[in-house]
Amino acid sequence: MNILLPVNSVEDILPEYVGTPIGLLFEYHNLNRPFENYEKAQLLVGMCMDNRKHLHIPENFAFIIRSGGANLRYSEFKVSYAIAVGSVSHIVLIGHNNCGMVNLIAREPEFIRGLVETAGWEKERAEEHFMHFAPMFEIGNETDFILSETKRLRLRYPKIIIAPLYYRVEDNELFFIREN
Ligand SMILES: [Zn+2]
Repeated sequence: MNILLPVNSVEDILPEYVGTPIGLLFEYHNLNRPFENYEKAQLLVGMCMDNRKHLHIPENFAFIIRSGGANLRYSEFKVSYAIAVGSVSHIVLIGHNNCGMVNLIAREPEFIRGLVETAGWEKERAEEHFMHFAPMFEIGNETDFILSETKRLRLRYPKIIIAPLYYRVEDNELFFIREN
C-alpha cells in the first residue's frame, strides 16, 4: 500500500480537507489554480529548511515555519502565535524525500569538518555541539516523523485541523501522507 496519495485533480483532495485552506494549498501548488488576493494568512505551513523546496502559493496565504525535517518541537511558541494572533486554524506539516535530518549520525564527520573549516570552530566544540543537538533533530524517517508530529500537534491544539503532507523534490509535487 502506497503511503503517499497523489493529488492530480480536485477530486483527489481528501474529503475532510475540501473547502479548507489545506485543499486550496493543493489547488495552488499542484493544480495551478489562479492566485486570489489574501489580506491575512489562512494556513500555517511547517516545512523543512531544505533549499530544494518552494511552495507555489499566493502572497499572504500562509505563515511558514521552516526547520530541519519540518520539526516543530522547538518552534511551538511560533505555532501558538500563528494560531492565537494570526487566527489560523489549519496547519500542514510537509516532509520531503532525501531529507538531511534522516540518519544525521552518518553526517557527523562532515558536520564537524564543516564547522571547523567553514566556521572556524575548534574540533572539540564542534563534536560537543553535534552530540548535544543531533538527537534532538534526528527524524528517523520522513513520513513516520511527519505522522507522529501531526498526532502530537493535534493533541496540543485540539481545535486545529492538521494534515500530514509530503513534498517530492524531483518534481515539486505535494502529496497527502496516508494515515493509519
Ligand atoms: Zn529536509
